[in-house]
Amino acid sequence: MVTKKEFTEKILTEYPRMEKTDKFKFACHPGVSCFNQCCNDVNIFLTPYDIIRVKNRLGITSGEFLEKYTLLPIEENLKHPIIMLRMDEETKNCPFVGKEGCTVYEDRPWSCRMFPVGVASPKEVENNDDKEFFFLLKEDVCKGFDGGNEWTVEEWMKNQGVDEYVELGDMFKDVSLHEYFTGTKGVEPVKLEMFYMACYDLDKFRTFVFGSTFLKRFKVDAERIEKIKKDDTELLKFGFDFIRFSLFGEKTLQLCDEYSQQTR
Ligand code: SF4
Ligand code: SF4
Repeated sequence: MVTKKEFTEKILTEYPRMEKTDKFKFACHPGVSCFNQCCNDVNIFLTPYDIIRVKNRLGITSGEFLEKYTLLPIEENLKHPIIMLRMDEETKNCPFVGKEGCTVYEDRPWSCRMFPVGVASPKEVENNDDKEFFFLLKEDVCKGFDGGNEWTVEEWMKNQGVDEYVELGDMFKDVSLHEYFTGTKGVEPVKLEMFYMACYDLDKFRTFVFGSTFLKRFKVDAERIEKIKKDDTELLKFGFDFIRFSLFGEKTLQLCDEYSQQTR
């Protein structure tokens, strides 16, 4: 399997770079001869918000979702855990593909919405500070490029409902591409576990916040407490603040007086 780093390096060197206003022609519909083939044997990286959308659609906890439907690839160059959809061992199909297409379509992951457009973050590769860019993934199997409407990258993203994913996606990028991870220093396992829980295993993170001394140690206002109790997206934003505080040393959360004196 190609590693995430190798894939990013290939894109950086071989793929034409596109802006939001650049155009391409594409059409995908149930009548195409390749229908559903892109949902087989494919690497789909999941963002924290993807996990919220799909696990809530399935009515299961984040822990159940991660265990049943995902893989945690181990690669030498990875600075923090990444999550991939687990394909069926025999058929190599995505667990959510059905005869009529995607069975979680309204909540399908960000990268499924974006396809055939990809986004490259050069920062994922050490010593590369180029800015993010778009590119087209022209897979041989995909007949979508044989005709269809003309789209700008921006129009395509709007049409596919990507806008709903932007705010939390950008917040995740700011955290996951932070110099704390992109630097050369190794990160302690306990901190990686914290990152995994606060980003991906949100139901466990909620139990941690409400079932431990957490709220005695941190000053969190009553309105925010009510929000994070019920709303996964609010809890994820809180999780990002927690990572920024505990890993990057930023003042995104405030300790109660008694605890802040102990840490001085
Ligand atoms: S989530 Fe849906 S669109 Fe994405 S690969 Fe699976 S079946 Fe295809
Ligand atoms: S392979 Fe391309 S055209 Fe065929 S179903 Fe997938 S995205 Fe659509």
